[in-house]
Amino acid sequence: VITVVGSINMDLVTLTDKVPQMGETLMGTKFQTNPGGKGANQAVAAARLGVHVKMIGCVGKDQFGTELLHHLQNQGIDTAHVEQVEDRTGIATIIVSGQDNSIIVVPGANDHVTGDFVETRRDIIAQSDLLLLQLEIPLEAVRKAAQIAKENGVKVILNPAPIRDLPGELLENIEYLTPNEHEYRLLPSHNEELHKKVILTKGREGVSYYEGNQLVNIPAFNVSAIDTTGAGDSFNGGFAVGLSKGLSLKEACQYGNAVAALSTTRLGAQTGMPTANEVEAFLKS
Ligand code: ADP
Repeated sequence: VITVVGSINMDLVTLTDKVPQMGETLMGTKFQTNPGGKGANQAVAAARLGVHVKMIGCVGKDQFGTELLHHLQNQGIDTAHVEQVEDRTGIATIIVSGQDNSIIVVPGANDHVTGDFVETRRDIIAQSDLLLLQLEIPLEAVRKAAQIAKENGVKVILNPAPIRDLPGELLENIEYLTPNEHEYRLLPSHNEELHKKVILTKGREGVSYYEGNQLVNIPAFNVSAIDTTGAGDSFNGGFAVGLSKGLSLKEACQYGNAVAALSTTRLGAQTGMPTANEVEAFLKS
């Protein structure tokens, strides 16, 4: 069992030829709502790969909340610990124009995932094989979840996105930190203990990590990428599944690379995530 404690959002995506100035109204070209949030994305990535996934998080008592709960259930995710709270469901307003986008995230219900909320789900974390975390919920909840995992010998992967200052106590409780290059640059450079835990994702360059003083590179797969949205989430889901199945660090990185590469060949974050069979076929080809 992989447990994810994290965010659940509805992405509200507006496509437009031109981005409006403040005070300006424009006609856009397309609108769509896509299930999102890094927590939910990584939970879906792992669930597609055939692993039992439990999600701990909050949505609102509104239409998006109900819709997202059903969506996670349809993906085979155990949502017994996703609570519908008296708030609006988290959303991301995304304006896409050509290759660029601007995003506003309103956490809403995700802010109800507090340290206490996590504490009451202690057993779920303690009974997991692996805990997968990101930084789109209150830091207290992330700290608490990692602490419970450590106390119970459960390995923790922390995807430090969006990046913020990480307390030393949190870092001590995690096994792997999976920043992308942007997030990596903002990590404290002098902390050697931290850098031993880093699995750096480098887009089309793949991933790298230190084995002692030796830098190990695991190259990405060569694919024609059409949409890299959710590549990082796909990698984290795949990497977590690989580790939970007992693969070595290197093999788990290769598996994560394969899952992420496949996801970039299809549109959308969650919609592009492959199944276990698709990854197997891809690795054989
Ligand atoms: P993020 O999506 O968080 O910015 P990266 O850009 O580092 O993260 O991508 C995460 C992973 O996705 C990479 O380590 C790699 O495995 C895979 N990936 C991303 N872009 C490509 C690409 N163009 N071709 C193949 N794999 C890719």
